[in-house]
Amino acid sequence: MFKKILIANRGEIACRVIKSAQKMGIKTVAIYSDADRNALHVKMADEAVHIGPSPAAQSYIVIDKVMHAVRQSGAEAVHPGYGFLSENMKFAQALEKAGVAFIGPPAGAIASMGDKITSKKLAAKAGVTTVPGYMGEIADEAEAVKISNEIGYPVMIKASAGGGGKGMRVAWNDAEAREGFQLSKSEAASSFGDDRIFIEKFITQPRHIEIQVLGDKHGNCIYLNERECSIQRRNQKVIEEAPSPFLDAKTRKSMGKQAVALAKAVDYCSAGTVEFIVDGKRNFYFLEMNTRLQVEHPVTELITGIDLVEQMIRVAYGEKLAIRQKDVVINGWAMESRLYAEDPYRNFLPSIGRLSRYRPPEEVATKTMVVRNDTGVYEGGEISMFYDPMIAKLCSWAPDRAAAIDVMRNALDGFEVEGIGHNLPFLSAVMDHPRFASGDITTAFIEEEYPDGFQGVELNEVTLKRISAACAAMYRVAEIRLARVSGRIDNHERKVGENWVIKVQDARFDVSIDADPKGSSVSFADGTKHRVTSDWVPGERLANFMIDGTPLILKVAPISAGYQVRYRGADTSVVIYTPRRAELAEYMLEKLPADTSKMLLCPMPGLIVNLNVAVGDEVQDGQALCTVEAMKMENVLRAEKKGVISKINAKVGGSMAVDEVIMEFE
Ligand code: ADP
Ligand code: ADP
Ligand code: MG
Repeated sequence: MFKKILIANRGEIACRVIKSAQKMGIKTVAIYSDADRNALHVKMADEAVHIGPSPAAQSYIVIDKVMHAVRQSGAEAVHPGYGFLSENMKFAQALEKAGVAFIGPPAGAIASMGDKITSKKLAAKAGVTTVPGYMGEIADEAEAVKISNEIGYPVMIKASAGGGGKGMRVAWNDAEAREGFQLSKSEAASSFGDDRIFIEKFITQPRHIEIQVLGDKHGNCIYLNERECSIQRRNQKVIEEAPSPFLDAKTRKSMGKQAVALAKAVDYCSAGTVEFIVDGKRNFYFLEMNTRLQVEHPVTELITGIDLVEQMIRVAYGEKLAIRQKDVVINGWAMESRLYAEDPYRNFLPSIGRLSRYRPPEEVATKTMVVRNDTGVYEGGEISMFYDPMIAKLCSWAPDRAAAIDVMRNALDGFEVEGIGHNLPFLSAVMDHPRFASGDITTAFIEEEYPDGFQGVELNEVTLKRISAACAAMYRVAEIRLARVSGRIDNHERKVGENWVIKVQDARFDVSIDADPKGSSVSFADGTKHRVTSDWVPGERLANFMIDGTPLILKVAPISAGYQVRYRGADTSVVIYTPRRAELAEYMLEKLPADTSKMLLCPMPGLIVNLNVAVGDEVQDGQALCTVEAMKMENVLRAEKKGVISKINAKVGGSMAVDEVIMEFE
């Protein structure tokens, strides 16, 4: 076996690869940029080589720099992770030339599968069903319109070199086809340095289901079942699971067979993923093949018990696959939640900053449940603008789907992240969503269930009461401590009130609290009563309660009268008043947020790449106003209603901060 390997990546995936290598007794070499000097993957590896400035284009994806690190460290093989150089044929060739093993497929397979037009043609030849469409390059807008009409709307306009959900647009009519062609083309040019575009049928209400394949250098290739990745925003996955709640054994087998046929057609070895789009009748169509380890590979590991990274390393060393197709099992159910530094309340736009708090739930592995957290960050670390905003991949496993969801719910409850915007509330909301629980999901799930964006969850009265009871108990403890510290009162417990008015979301509860050494009993005006016990002490951010014998976990931060409470998909203030103060509050005017309805605010920090309107223009509802580029994505901002432009503050080429006013309306 190899004695030393280099991991040409960063973040969670570099850490993930190091773990398997360590388990196999292989020494590891990390590479790092300026921004990653103190990163987790650097700490975990046996050695680390600095390879340049923070932008990936000047460090992680510069082949010469990585090759230099390989030579300097004497590594015998390189694992590329995902993204970066993982699907770069030239990198695989450079390694081959240097006599270093690439822990991935042959360069030829990367070349043919890395290009969507080529791979579609190859797939069709190998007998794989592909999405109907035009398998060639589109020259200009006019041709885009012509081809779209031939295919029939809706269509998907895609960059042949695309990846990561970028360079892709849906069009429902000629105008959108023209606009989509231009947008995809310029996004593809800036993201991939290759602006070739093709068009295929947009499959409506589809599921994204993909097959994991694994091959060796001796002509053996097997499939390790499927992953369902239909929960997506911006055509990018957020929640994945294995197996799929939709597939039957027959469909699974025919998808598996086609995936293996395609892999064999390009002499594939190592781990790879064949992505399909599946319609409501279980017709499936080839989308693309990812010739690398996939982000969501852990769910496959959890149901099959196979360590994919270990297999990749063994295959690269030349070993024969020790697993046969008939050995591959589906054991139980696994879920993955991608924790992103992005703001769910702002259309999932990326967020950056310092992780002032990062406490993942404890990892567990028993016969009935698993919690696994793949991460590349630590408390105090920085989420920089240079790389992918994924913080961690939280996975759960249990004997069945409902139990796996439950394990995930609890794990998310115990996950503490502060300092940056993150999508934990959104992940919890999906886990609690009845439609998700039913398994009836499509790639349109997020759009359909959160048409106006994610605004946080409205809690039902039963939950609001449980939360109120918990907060009353916390507040009492905090007030007693305060009284004690100030030393004003001798018998403090007596003086701290027993009656409180609690306001949470739109509800108001008048409660009285009766405490004893073991806990508190909180009575509501309607006669309901909750028994609360907890070991919470003031200052703690994660509060565990038992309410009438069932657990309740809240993330809490004190506010002037009460707490800011995060529970599952809800982030809400719980205001606690004495009855007297509540009475006074009735007479106070609520502070209204500033009126921004006549302004177009910049939704994220970004660059203005295009202005479509001028002062004095009348615009219609839905008309494009300008284009903002951020994290290599071009976002067209549109008018929300008819109006006349009175002022424009932005300039093409200028950058804007979040909430900066781009233009104003009369
Ligand atoms: P998956 O299907 O595993 O989610 P994606 O294609 O979405 O795979 O991308 C996997 C990872 O690689 C993501 O973190 C994405 O941001 C990154 N990535 C994908 N394509 C590119 C690219 N061309 N350049 C840089 N990063 C990329
Ligand atoms: P990427 O390389 O960015 O991962 P894919 O071709 O795999 O690009 O597509 C990403 C996602 O976009 C898919 O998972 C699916 O949700 C959606 N998508 C892609 N092509 C189609 C299509 N023809 N019809 C409907 N949805 C599609
Ligand atoms: Mg894809």
